[in-house]
Amino acid sequence: MSSHRPQDQPSSSSNSGHHTPQPLPLQLSRYESQKRRDWNTFLQYLKTLNPPMAISIFDHTHVLSFLKYLDQFGKTKVHNQVCVFFGQPDPPLPCTCPLKQAWGSLDALIGRLRAAYEEHGGGSSENNPFGNGSIRIYLREVRQFQAKARGIPYRKRSKRKKKTYDVVV
Ligand SMILES: [Zn+2]
Repeated sequence: MSSHRPQDQPSSSSNSGHHTPQPLPLQLSRYESQKRRDWNTFLQYLKTLNPPMAISIFDHTHVLSFLKYLDQFGKTKVHNQVCVFFGQPDPPLPCTCPLKQAWGSLDALIGRLRAAYEEHGGGSSENNPFGNGSIRIYLREVRQFQAKARGIPYRKRSKRKKKTYDVVV
């Protein structure tokens, strides 16, 4: 009868006073880790250019070429205007149109890179190449074309008012 060991006694409960909630240290949020990955991808891309582009002197033209370069890794079928499925959201047969980056992915990517650029000491936001007007225009064109090509309208927040008085009497 020597089994009188305490079963569940904590060895030393000296620091039982404060239990700090530990929200998974070293774990970046999805957004943060994605942003970091995007930034590194962009830096890699600059290095592959001929001649390699330094991070200090790239401009919005490199951002644009980066977006186009990414299309080859895209997974979104975007029909050419000559394709019979142009404008069909759910084509019954495969076609040879290219896969591209969906507009929404590019848009989100630019947002992350824009933030990353500022975090890496890129300077004021008006000089931010990712916020350049030509990139906004490019993204808008991509959105409009993809909406037509895929037959999927991207909803606008405010619907355009239909003129009701333009009937010529
Ligand atoms: Zn097609």
